[in-house]
Parts: sequence; C-alpha cells; structure tokens
Amino acid sequence: MIKALSVLASAGMVLVACQNVPSTDGTASPIDTANMSDTVKTMASDEFMGRAPGTEGETKTVDYLIKRFTELGLEPGGRDGKWTDPVTLKHSMITGVRSLNITAGGETINIEQARDIEISSANARDTITVTKAPVVFVGFGVSAPERDWDDFGDMDLKGKVALFLVNDPDFGVADDHPVAGLFGGRRMTYYGRWAYKFEEAARRGAVAALVIHETKAAGYGWNVASSSPGENYAVAGTKSKPSVDLQGWLHEDMAKQWVAEAGYDLDTLRTAARQRDFKAFTLGDLRFNAELALKVDTVESQNVLGKITGTTRPDETIMLSGHWDAYGIGAPDAQGRVVMPGANDDALGLAGIMEIARNLKAEPAPERTVVFAAWTGEESGLLGSEAYAQDPVYPLETTVANFTLDILQTAGPAKDVIQVGEGQSELEEMMAATAATQGRTVSPEGLPENGLFYRADHFSLARRGVPVLLIMGIAGGSDLVEGGREAGDAWVKGYIDDRYHNQNDAWDADWDLRGAAQDVELFLDMTRELANSTNWPALKPTSEFKGLRDASAAARE
Ligand SMILES: [Zn+2]
Repeated sequence: MIKALSVLASAGMVLVACQNVPSTDGTASPIDTANMSDTVKTMASDEFMGRAPGTEGETKTVDYLIKRFTELGLEPGGRDGKWTDPVTLKHSMITGVRSLNITAGGETINIEQARDIEISSANARDTITVTKAPVVFVGFGVSAPERDWDDFGDMDLKGKVALFLVNDPDFGVADDHPVAGLFGGRRMTYYGRWAYKFEEAARRGAVAALVIHETKAAGYGWNVASSSPGENYAVAGTKSKPSVDLQGWLHEDMAKQWVAEAGYDLDTLRTAARQRDFKAFTLGDLRFNAELALKVDTVESQNVLGKITGTTRPDETIMLSGHWDAYGIGAPDAQGRVVMPGANDDALGLAGIMEIARNLKAEPAPERTVVFAAWTGEESGLLGSEAYAQDPVYPLETTVANFTLDILQTAGPAKDVIQVGEGQSELEEMMAATAATQGRTVSPEGLPENGLFYRADHFSLARRGVPVLLIMGIAGGSDLVEGGREAGDAWVKGYIDDRYHNQNDAWDADWDLRGAAQDVELFLDMTRELANSTNWPALKPTSEFKGLRDASAAARE
C-alpha cells in the first residue's frame, strides 16, 4: 500500500513515473531514480568544486543539503535546533626531516620517508622529537579477551616504539593451524587494521606505532601505503582519542633489516606471533631516533543532520547516513579537468538517503526517531562520523541501528545484495529477510581480506557497539539481472580502475540506477520496520564490539 501511494505522489510527471521501475516482486519501486540522478547531477557539478571540507565547495554543499532536507520536510537534527554540527579537523604535514634513523650495536641505519617508512602524526605539534626509543616487536599486537588472546603480557610500552605485523594472527595460515579461523579466517577483523594497532599502542603509552607493510596482508601495495607521506588528518577537540606521536608503515625490507640487527629473522618472528603463547619483546639494543618539523593547521567543517521525530519512542533512533565530502580540486587530468566530483562516491549515497526521507515523510510518522546524517571528512579518515561518535547528538546506546550508503552501483538491477562484514549483528538476518521480499539473495563481499567493514563511516559507530549495515557498490560484483556476476564484477573493476577518487567519478545521464534503487529500498524497508518496532537487533558473539554493546544494555530496557 505504501508503495502504491508513493507512485501516485510522483505520477504527476511522466518522466518520473517512468523512472519508478518495477521491483522484482511486481510492484513499482518507491525509489525515484530520476530524483536520485538529479541530486547527483547537482552535487557532482563543477559548481560544487569536488566538495572539499573547509572550502567554498563545502559552503555550497551544506547550503544545498539544508535546502533539500528542508524541502523534504525534515526537522533540523543537530544540537540546539541547528541543521549542522561543527567538526574541527586537524591537518598536519611533516615538512622537514632533521634526523630519522635507528641505531644498533654502534651502527646507524638511516631511514628515508616514502622509501623505507611512511610516518605522520595525529598530534598537531610543530616539532616531534624521539630520542633513543627502544623498539618492541609486539607481533600482531592484539589484545582480544573475547578470543583469549593477548600479545602484550606485562610489556610496558611507555616511551617505546611498537612494531606490529599487519592483519591478524590467522591470516594466511593453513586450515589445520591451531589458530585457523580464530580471527575470521580470510576476513580481516578489527585487530588486523592499522587503526586498531595505532590505538592500542596509544592506550599503552607508546611514542610511535609502526606496522610492517606486506602487500597481501595489507590488501594494497607500498605505492598506496606511501601515497601521501607525512600527511595526517584527525578530529580535534578534547574528546579526541590519545595518539602516538608517530604512526605509519614500515617497508618490509627495512623491517627485515631492523630485526636482523637484533639477531632475528622476520619469517621466524611471524611464525612465533601466530602462537597463542607469543608475547611482545624488545628488539635487542635497537633504538629509534627522529627529529621532525611539521606544518599544522585546522579545517573547520560541518556534518549536516536532519530528522523525523518518533511519535511514541522519540529517544530511540535509527540513523541513515552517507558522506558529502569528496576529493575537491586536483591537478589537471589528460582532458584538463581539475574537479574530482565524487558522483558515485558519495553524492549517490546521499541521493539515496533523501529518497528514503521522501518516502518516510509520505507515510504516518514512525514511532522511533529517524536521523539522516551527511558526514564531512570521510575521505580524510572517517572524521565527520568519528567526531559525531565521540560526541553524539543522539546517544549511541539508544541508537537502534545505522545504515550507511557509500558508493552505489550504476549498472542496473541485481539478483543479490552484497553484505559487507559478517558475524557482526542480527541486522544481517534482517537484511536477508528483507532482500527476500525483493526477490533477492545476500552474497558475501568479494574480497573479505580487504576489511571494508572497517573502512567506511558506519564503522565510527560500529566500533562503539552500534549495530550497523553498509552497502558499498565496490564491495563485490553483484549478480546483475543482465549479464550476471561477470557483468557485476566488470562494473566494480571499471569503477575502481578508472573512476575511483578521480575526475571520472562524474554524473552520467546513461546510468542505470535500478540496482541502486533496490539497495535504497532495502534500507527504506528495514528503517520502516525498525522504526515501528521495539526490536533492538543484537551484536553477535563473533563481533569484536559485543562487549561494548552489552555494557550499555540497561539504557535499552
Ligand atoms: Zn565514500
């Protein structure tokens, strides 16, 4: 019935009515693909200058989002009745290397930024000096009580350099290895991510955290790891997390040299680190030295928030989100284009959440509050969502779920939806049931070892225990109605190779948005169901964050 109503609501324009394509269950889709296309056409136009935080492009984007949210009938969702929530981003760049080396046995090995190491600082200071810091090999650097795993023992990291292996202990082991499957097998857990390792080192007072780069285990090559040497963005403010002074990647060749100086062999150390009884130890008389000059500045930016207030349980919220920022203006490409328009990424995701808002506003108001968030700073490291999660407008313990759209595919309708991450929450079963009503199935992501679950804005909430789902068009090739998986994979490859994060991520009149509309409708249906229920989808025992959610259970009683 709701679907029929929304078709009537938009039947005034012939074009729009035509764009309301049939769902696979025979009813018309409530998602208007012409609306979505128009939204992207505007946000990805040159006028918006690639939507870089802190620029005129931000002003235009935020004004546009407020105008659209207002027209959709949303209420301002920020603090004090405002549409926006301020976010201060710290930006730093290492501009001068006065010294950077390790010493061992009276010998000095110089370290070259970008060639041997990629380090930066999230602590915005003009100079960073590290003198004769011992280097501790911490293995995978995992402290996971729920898996009965602890690499640190009683090692004190204060003032020391923590040297980590990338990924988690069961990556790449044989099926009969004692730790096989303990950390999700081929799928990376949070413990495998560099972000976790930097945080764990900071919690333990380390002065620096370095992760040994290996292409397969990292999911990308040294060229990617070292692509912006010395540059760092972080959330400013008193609630921001403690950071190590220096963080980054160490090239595998340099790591081999370091451990050899201390009388070890990297392969042997990796084998040892995969054992449950492994404990961190100091690498001989290795000492790390650095004297660095930094240029530090701040960028004032904003998240944009709208909401529909719940009728009976307004303090319980369901959140839909995407990010408004893109890559701004860069060097001219072969055709002389400088704007990197971020059309699929993520103007299209925001176009999707606006369609969800339009549908929900055409229906009786939901019992719970639905929040619509357009984050800033995603491309600088999930910073807008991180700032929100550090100081949420709507308490995280009573946030029922977050649904994030970040890059939708534009290759047409699909027989499946790709699930990112696995074993996290009961939203996974709910997604499968909802997809079934669309005549679709759920498929696992294409490259689980890349850990996409930890690499989009929903994760800022997930890591604090909020149940989340992410739909990301590049998480794997869809099984397309026309052309099957092969055509879906080809679309993903074409997007990543040719358009991702560059001038080609542009609006295209020839997009087939019917598949994107299926994904948006899926989140619409799930939002509607949760917003009119008393259900709190739980985290699963295999989630790294279940303990956190459990700790706030009283708030949901
Ligand atoms: Zn994105």
